[in-house]
Amino acid sequence: MQTLDNYNFAGKKAFVRVDFNVPLDENFNITDDTRMVKALPTLKKILADGGSLIIGSHLGRPKKGPEDKFSLRHIVAHLSELLGTEVKFVDECVGDKVKAAVAALKPGEVLLLENLRFHAEEEGKPRGLAEDASDEEKAAAKKAIKASQKEFTKELADLADVYVNDAFGTAHRTHASTALMAEYFSPENKMFGYLMGKEVAAVDKVMKEMVRPFTAIMGGSKVSSKIDIIENLLTKVDNLIIAGGMTYTFTKALGGKIGNSICEDDKLVNKAKANHVNLVLAVDAKIADDFSNDANTDFCDVDKIPDGWEGMDIGPKSEALFADVIKKSKTILWNGPTGVFEFDNFTSGSRAVAEAIVEATKNGAFSLVGGGDSVACVNKFGLADKVSYVSTGGGALLEAIEGKTLPGIAAIQG
Ligand code: AMP
Repeated sequence: MQTLDNYNFAGKKAFVRVDFNVPLDENFNITDDTRMVKALPTLKKILADGGSLIIGSHLGRPKKGPEDKFSLRHIVAHLSELLGTEVKFVDECVGDKVKAAVAALKPGEVLLLENLRFHAEEEGKPRGLAEDASDEEKAAAKKAIKASQKEFTKELADLADVYVNDAFGTAHRTHASTALMAEYFSPENKMFGYLMGKEVAAVDKVMKEMVRPFTAIMGGSKVSSKIDIIENLLTKVDNLIIAGGMTYTFTKALGGKIGNSICEDDKLVNKAKANHVNLVLAVDAKIADDFSNDANTDFCDVDKIPDGWEGMDIGPKSEALFADVIKKSKTILWNGPTGVFEFDNFTSGSRAVAEAIVEATKNGAFSLVGGGDSVACVNKFGLADKVSYVSTGGGALLEAIEGKTLPGIAAIQG
């Protein structure tokens, strides 16, 4: 597989798909530029080689064509600042204007294209269909968009000599710029950007090359959104720590009394047994009489939550239990907080998990944090640089640990 480091971009025009889907305030100021900063090493390498950059991205979820609030023109000035060079901008991503701008692009120059999702062809889904459209109308619209998506994809590909995908956040989408356009480039002219390469390597270290014991900590609010992930993890891990709101589904399945805590029916307990996975459940909970930071709180056994109360975080005994398992692990995956960490009175469990992961990492474990609010947790606790890798991909990381092949990755790996 081709790599950035082995490629000399001198005199080449590189189409780089990045994820510049940054949050903007009401005055279109960027409130968090992490995604832009993460793409800089790739962009700078290409410029340093003497290549020129054609940068493509989406911003937000435009559903009806161009809309100023989703325009990438809002980020041009900041991108120029970050790159230390002028960034040219075209208010289109395909068409004559773009072709002319690309033709005029000299080595070392940067062109940012307009939001790729202003065209329905990027996602390949029909837009503007009447709600009462018949099945025939729906099928015809689908066929039409697939045909025009082909042209759109080829037009994007024709702009460049080489294709670089550094947008891990959209690697689970089969969109024109994230997966489909790769087919127009020979294997030596398509590659991952540095960020994408790091993400793929981190996922492989955990899911394919894990050193045992391998412990996954699954938290967050709902089991239903994570059943497929847990099912896949049960075929790989030695220990599965269940935390957060999904604790109560498991506790209930095992016959416990969980008061008003959130709960869904589930059969995963039996699968864990069948796979000889050590299922580690909370033994105590920090409970509240209301879903708020100022609620009255107490601690109790996890299977004896009184009516009218709900589990909002794990208790101190569970913190010690989880920390013990985590510290003995050599591969760790953490997805989802142990409690409602957004409320300051319910952060203790997530902090204990984060600190145990940091300690295990110091002792040589590989730790991957990502795919949900656990990233916000390690950032909140100032521990992000003390774990092995914090993923930038929410849905993409979740699909990867679910065991799915991500189209954006497959398109490059072949
Ligand atoms: P996720 O996006 O899957 O990582 O889920 C994160 C969300 O789960 C956060 O908003 C937490 O507040 C929520 N959460 C964690 N524990 C609980 C709990 N015991 N009850 C309700 N929500 C929870």
